[in-house]
Amino acid sequence: MPDSIRDTVIIGSGCAGLTAAIYAARANLKPLVLEGHEPGGQLSITTLVENFPGWPEGIQGPQLIENMKQQAARFGAEFRMTHLVGADLSRRPIALDLGKETIHTRTLIIASGASARWLGLPSEKALIGHGVSSCATCDGFFFMGKEIAVVGGGDSAMEEALFLTRFASKVTLIHRREQFRASRIMLDRAIAHPNIQFLTNTAVAEVMGVEQKEVSGLRLRNQHNGEESILPVSALFLGIGHVPNASMFAGQIDLDEEGYVKTHDNVFTRVPGVFACGDVQDRRYRQAITAAGTGCMAALEVEKYLEEHGR
Ligand code: NAP
Repeated sequence: MPDSIRDTVIIGSGCAGLTAAIYAARANLKPLVLEGHEPGGQLSITTLVENFPGWPEGIQGPQLIENMKQQAARFGAEFRMTHLVGADLSRRPIALDLGKETIHTRTLIIASGASARWLGLPSEKALIGHGVSSCATCDGFFFMGKEIAVVGGGDSAMEEALFLTRFASKVTLIHRREQFRASRIMLDRAIAHPNIQFLTNTAVAEVMGVEQKEVSGLRLRNQHNGEESILPVSALFLGIGHVPNASMFAGQIDLDEEGYVKTHDNVFTRVPGVFACGDVQDRRYRQAITAAGTGCMAALEVEKYLEEHGR
């Protein structure tokens, strides 16, 4: 039996994981938060968050995350800049492989979120970091005065397109259909912006510039008639949604066909003592506030579980 067994470990440090950490820390469970590949999660690479209650003027995503982290740390949460290599959820205590060490815990909160989705084109892959990006806030600055493209039809694409108008001389928003998933307010803002042009029913067939190692344009395909055209741009930003980070648990907990963790009664997985919250288990709402809500639920269930099963 290992010397020190944690009461709870939280995988992920986005809105869900940090809210779980605040609640678990206030319950004196001394949670350990494994910060993961993308510390702070999606909020840490966004700009102004206008719909998180309590911030009438909005708050910058990275600041909101930093506030949550400090709040959790104040009550005793510990943070580690590492990620999970593997886990054995069948053992008690649960064993978590961090590569250089294995840690043990009575309960686990999976809050590993979701990561940017890519189109899957070989040319796109070859040019990531050379004009292809999934993070407007990280890379927009490099395209000052340039013409760029954003692909996607949801709120992420609208947000990226609007943000990128700060730098780019022109933003072309490319969407594969006529209808948008974006909320009315975000869509209207993008439509109203003089430097954003919309191209609908259009798919990106190829990102050009692989040989020069620098994006020079896009080969586009009209979805109705198959006609191809070239759009000269210096960058392509992806805003086509996210893929849940749960593949490391495949076979141990239930995942749906898109890889989201299947939960029942909000945050319960089929493994006792293992709970999931936030975007890794939420294909429907995917908001900062709903992630925080399920993070809270997961921590409360951990408390109940430990009361019932002993610490
Ligand atoms: P989303 O709503 O799922 O939209 C993804 C978009 O990408 C869809 O329009 C989809 O096209 C397109 N797409 C997906 N795969 C594609 C592919 N392979 N090729 C071309 N296009 C592809 O994702 P999201 O925009 O990231 O938003 C996720 C959630 O976060 C939503 O609930 C949203 O409200 C929220 N969010 C909110 C804010 C905000 O309020 N400020 C900002 C960002 C995100 P189809 O429509 O054809 O499927």
